[in-house]
Amino acid sequence: MPENLDKIALVTGAARGIGLATARRFLSEGWRVALLDIDVETLDKAVAELAQPEATLALACDVSDPAAVAVAFAALTIRFGRLDALVNNAGTAVFKPLLETSYEEWQRVLAVNLTGPFLTTQLAAPLMADTGGGAIVNITSISGLRASTLRVAYGTSKAGLAHLTKQQAAELAGLGIRVNAVAPGPVDTAMAKAVHSPEIRADYHDAIPLNRYGLEEELAEAIFFLCSDRSSYITGQVLAVDGGFDAVGIGLT
Ligand code: NAD
Repeated sequence: MPENLDKIALVTGAARGIGLATARRFLSEGWRVALLDIDVETLDKAVAELAQPEATLALACDVSDPAAVAVAFAALTIRFGRLDALVNNAGTAVFKPLLETSYEEWQRVLAVNLTGPFLTTQLAAPLMADTGGGAIVNITSISGLRASTLRVAYGTSKAGLAHLTKQQAAELAGLGIRVNAVAPGPVDTAMAKAVHSPEIRADYHDAIPLNRYGLEEELAEAIFFLCSDRSSYITGQVLAVDGGFDAVGIGLT
């Protein structure tokens, strides 16, 4: 039986993949969910398929654009009037070595993956504080935990987001807000299909003790736990959900 009919979550990058699975997880627990994404067509389709118009709100927004984020938060506040959980999941990836990564690629990856969560948090925290607090989960990556030859922009953005998580946890605890990160290993979403070559897939298969990619639902479960009261004494942590990859420490291409 759902117990959280008054609770509101905002999930960025929620039109597909891990973000959509996370939105579904919140809905299954009786939360209402604002789904934010830059891809309006896919977002509208996803929200239509969820078929819960009373419990969902679609927000078309580029998380790296301060004005667009402000408009999205205004719409969320008008519709729901409060915020209990923010999942900074929107992300973009360029898998190239340092010397082949363009300035524009570097800037875009940093803007979406790192500046986006900075912008959303600045608007989410006061809204959460109005009702006594909440929880934020940033989606980093195992690529932010260690260096690899193809991930200079992506890995650096995710390592920065892991540090932002600790910074947010330290600064927002006084407002009753816990902040943690989930660092997925490979999950076979559209993003992974776009950037994981056969060589990368073989690397991962060998390097992951559980010998498989993760499922979107397995990530959503960890994210939901860190947003729920069941994790009430956990803040400032980065939880790898990666089939044991980080534990064994084998490098990647
Ligand atoms: P995905 O590409 O399937 O979904 C990402 C969503 O974010 C898309 O709907 C996309 O439209 C949206 N998005 C991209 N840029 C945006 C922007 N500027 N503003 C708003 N929305 C934007 O990816 P996914 O695999 O579900 O990844 C979700 C998160 O998990 C990302 O942060 C990603 O870096 C991280 N991650 C994924 C994997 C993996 O193997 N799939 C591994 C580690 C970390």
